[in-house]
Amino acid sequence: MARVYNFSAGPAVLPESVLQEAAAEMLDYKGYGMSVMEMSHRSKMFTDILDEAEQDLRDLMGIPSNYKVLFLQGGASQQFAAIPMNLMKNKKAEYIITGNWAKKAFQEAQMYGDARAIASSADKTFTYIPDVSDLDIRDDADYVYICQNNTIYGTRYTELPNTKGKDLVSDISSCFLSEPIDVSKYALVYGGVQKNVGPAGIVIDIIREDLITDDVLPGTPTMLKFKTQADAGSLYNTPPCYNIYICGKVFKWIKSLGGLEAMKKINEEKAAILYDFLDNSKMFKGTVEKKYRSLMNVPFVTGDADLDAKFVAEAKACGLENLKGHRTVGGMRASIYNAMPKVGVEALVQFMDKFEKENA
Ligand SMILES: *Cc1c(COP(=O)(O)O)cnc(C)c1O
Repeated sequence: MARVYNFSAGPAVLPESVLQEAAAEMLDYKGYGMSVMEMSHRSKMFTDILDEAEQDLRDLMGIPSNYKVLFLQGGASQQFAAIPMNLMKNKKAEYIITGNWAKKAFQEAQMYGDARAIASSADKTFTYIPDVSDLDIRDDADYVYICQNNTIYGTRYTELPNTKGKDLVSDISSCFLSEPIDVSKYALVYGGVQKNVGPAGIVIDIIREDLITDDVLPGTPTMLKFKTQADAGSLYNTPPCYNIYICGKVFKWIKSLGGLEAMKKINEEKAAILYDFLDNSKMFKGTVEKKYRSLMNVPFVTGDADLDAKFVAEAKACGLENLKGHRTVGGMRASIYNAMPKVGVEALVQFMDKFEKENA
């Protein structure tokens, strides 16, 4: 068996040690004589797994005690609706459009109230983050919404917007646990786990308690009410138990590396290897403004679609998988999430160097 270096944007690479542990526990989890997939979600065996996962996440992110952690289903995309349904008390929200995911969230919110786009980087195909220091935010806006790391375009916020006292909501799907964040600066941060945290099927919401109320838009489904999920401790109905178990293992893996400060350092080192190569290459070019470069998703092009296709095919043959760019951007994209080892990035850069010389 040979594992490849998987640069997929999501579902994405998981730590090998986590997969090995899960494999070892597949038939008999800790002497219980069954797999985590076969357990009742109401059993102590499973609620211990859930409680420990939540506690480890709280430790890693330093989540304040007045924030709830919810393990939900429906992916990040379902939160695009759940957020306005739960938070649009005045039916007004401000969205900053920095890519496809922010745009989708914005379009969804428009179905529930007066959602406005107050800034956008669409004019330059989302290759930068707009100035967010002094935006036109309504006094009665319910929240300001951002997508913090733009998975498709490869940009990230270097500072949070000045929300003028309004609640900040952030989609951190593709930068979840990649570096420390100050949770207290947000009303709600959330992310689908399949980019950086675990197997597809869960979205984690970290939400300030005072926002969890019965005062939601009429017609909000029971399952989408934050209060339902918070009151039931994420066990209102059957959760994706196995996926939560794997997320818990990933939390422990990050703890074992030294937590989020250590994770950030590793991610910065890995990203620097690839960006330094791009900056010195005559063939390959990064596509976004340097200041806003993502640590997680690195799009690049040769400027020649045929050469791009050749590169992707030859890389694949060398065990460097899923380097084709998103269909809306073209070229290549290397997603170098937490679980991508440094040697994987080094292997990619060596291959790019060889390809450049051979095709000069
Ligand atoms: C992948 C992604 C999404 C969509 O996630 P789903 O779980 O598939 O709905 C949303 N936002 C960002 C930033 C993403 O990277």
